Parts: sequence; C-alpha cells; structure tokens
Amino acid sequence: MTNRLIFSVLLIIISPWLLAKELIVLHTNDFHGHIQQEGKYAGAAKIAAFVKEIKAQHPAALFLDAGDAISGTPVSSMFEGEPIFDVMNAMGYDVGLIGNHEFDHGYKKIERFRAIANHPLLTANAVGPDGELLGDAPYLLLNLDGIEVGVIGLITETAPTLFSPTGNEGLTFLDPADRLSELVPMLRAKTDVLILLSHIGHEAELLLAEQFQDLDLIIGGHSHTLVQHPVRVGKTLVAQANHYGSHLGLIKIKVSDKGQSPLDIQGDLIAANELPDGDPATQALVSSYEAKVQGQVDIKIASLHKNYSKIELQPILENILAESIGADLGYYNRTGIRDILSKGDVTARMIWNLEPFGNTLVKLTLSGADLLILLSQEPALHHAVDAIDPERRYQLATNSFIASHATLAFGDAITAVDTGILVRDILIQQIKANGLK
Ligand SMILES: [Zn+2]
Repeated sequence: MTNRLIFSVLLIIISPWLLAKELIVLHTNDFHGHIQQEGKYAGAAKIAAFVKEIKAQHPAALFLDAGDAISGTPVSSMFEGEPIFDVMNAMGYDVGLIGNHEFDHGYKKIERFRAIANHPLLTANAVGPDGELLGDAPYLLLNLDGIEVGVIGLITETAPTLFSPTGNEGLTFLDPADRLSELVPMLRAKTDVLILLSHIGHEAELLLAEQFQDLDLIIGGHSHTLVQHPVRVGKTLVAQANHYGSHLGLIKIKVSDKGQSPLDIQGDLIAANELPDGDPATQALVSSYEAKVQGQVDIKIASLHKNYSKIELQPILENILAESIGADLGYYNRTGIRDILSKGDVTARMIWNLEPFGNTLVKLTLSGADLLILLSQEPALHHAVDAIDPERRYQLATNSFIASHATLAFGDAITAVDTGILVRDILIQQIKANGLK
C-alpha cells in the first residue's frame, strides 16, 4: 500500500472522530435546598463557579437538575422553596425537572417555581386536575453549537405516596415507560444526543435504560445514589450525583450524526472538595437568604458524644413524639428523617435539616392490625413490629404526613387528631431539655 492509500484509509476510519463535536453535560439531583456550603455539601456558589468555568471553555455545555431541588434546609422551608429557584438562576441551570418534593407546598406552588426559575421545569408525566401537564414542557429540543440535543423529563409514578395529599388533590402520574414509548422514537430521529432527565430512582432508571436503548443518557435522581461513573446498560449510560450538592456530575459526549448513538460517552462525579472557590455573586445571594434565617436556627441546643445514623435516630424520635402527648407508641417514618446527627454541637438548623417539611404532630387511634400495615411501608422491618398486638387498639403519635396517608388508606377505621404543633418544634424543645435519649 502506498503512503497515500494508507493515509486515505486511516482518514476514513478516523474521520467521524475528526468531525466529532463534544457536548458537556453537568448535573445535580436532590439538591434539597442546600444552597449554603455545609460539611460535605458544596453549596451553590462552588457549583456555580465550576459551571461558569466549563461553560466558558466549551461551546456546547448543558447544566441539568433532576428534581427535588427544594425541602431540606431552613431557607427552603421558611420561604416555601422559592429562594432555591432564585439561587439556581445564579448557578446557571439550563433545564430542571419537577420531583416529588416540588409538591411539598401543594401543586399550585409549582407555577410560582416556574415563574421564578429562568430555566424550564420539565415533566412529561405529572398531570394536573385540568388534564394539563404541570411543567413548562414535556421535553426540550436544544441546539448547542450545532449539536441537536433532546431532553425528556419524567417523575416517579409513586409520587402521590411521597407528598402530602393536602393541596395535591386530583393529580395523575402517567407511566414513565408509556411516555417514553411515545417520545423516544419521535425525538431520536431529530437529535444527536437524547437524554432522559429522570426523578425515578437508580434501579428503575437502569431498567428504563434496558428498555429504551435509543436513549443515550439518563441523568437520574430520587434515590440519592452516588454513581461515581455512569453505569453502562447496552448503549445507554445511567448517571446520578448523590444528593444535597455533595457532588456535581460531569459527562463528556462525543457526537456523530443525527439519530445515531454518540461515538463515546464518559462521565465522572466531582466531589465538593474538588470544586473551585465559590462564585462571589452566587454566594452574595445565598448569604442574603441565609441572613434571614440565621438568628433563628444557628443556635446551639445540645451536644452529642457520638454520631447518630437514621436507624439509630428513628426510635429516639418516636419516643420523643410519644412522650410529648402521652401516646402508647410513636411512629416516625425512616424516609422522613432527612439528615443524620453528628458528634459535637447540635444546632436548631440541624433539626430543621432533619425535619424540613413542617409536619405537625398527630395522635392516631387505630387497631394493631392497621398499625402493622402502616409499619410494613417502611424500607426495612420496623423495630416495634414484634411488640404489636393486632387485636389491641393503640394511640399512636406520628407526623401529619403519615397521618394523612393513613387516613386515606383506612378511612373511618382510624381517628386522627392534629395537635397543630410542629414536629420540628417538639424535637428542638425536647433535645434542648434532655439531649438525645
Ligand atoms: Zn424524590
């Protein structure tokens, strides 16, 4: 073979790579209001600084959030999630998603979030009482430096079991797979890169990847899974960046022709301590919001000699609730415990982070049999199960989230009396008075 021929053959082989463009996708999920840097959590300003750097270097860069942006910190709780979307504007998001916690202040509040956010909030399967989708759009088509990108937004179908029924009446959540069957073939033909922005959880997202191989990438959320390198399922990559801004996801996609799979996709997570110093403008905005709550929450209430995991906290919190109204038992759902408590000083802020929802304390009267059904919803066997007599009636101290779902499930078989007292306030008072025991 002549040199010229060798050169021509080589050129044919490598030409897709020479012509290839690169799309950078940055992503977060389950940020839960952690705008301020705190321990392992980067805070909005450091993330914003990195995103700015990447966007300055790459003509095609996209910054996505996979839902549950709110509920998790005092700023979010006190101002019903609104500051979080304002701060997200400073962080430079391009596309967001409606997660189950975006319903924490009732679905009508989502309209307000959409108005504040500069980026569209997607959902292809959350439907309001009027039959209309609740987000800005079911999907987006973007042209970034000549690369056609499609982003579809989906939320878990189990959403109604995860938020309070009050303020969320008449909603419907469509089957994500049904929606993808419709949208993927239609969008594949129009796009170089097809992305699913998903608040469905990692395990379910792996199954969707298997089923929809025409998706190039799933940016996941909801299960708070730390996926250091995206999982490859056939041709599809499935990513997720833990939670609370502890990590920022970074994915590089080498793009070929429209409708074809990209030439290459690689991804990684960047931990908070690897991010640059915070962006000053974003930090100023964060500080202005934090200043409104600091006086109320940055107060020491106790000191701990050890760390407490969620499993260890559950019976302690249940006892506090039961004792506060003289009930037989307390029940505090494990998934409602949103933070651990660490050795050292405990501040009121830490209790806000643990109970960001503003649930009230409710006394439920119910049969042991119904109580066992209630406890069977726990992710693991509840520690009290063996001691419960199905024949007996119990007075149970619990939070309004559990009480409202129990009332829906059991109807007249139970009675619920809402004390109107915030669970968070009871926890703060009791821990202040008695420590954790
Ligand atoms: Zn979620």
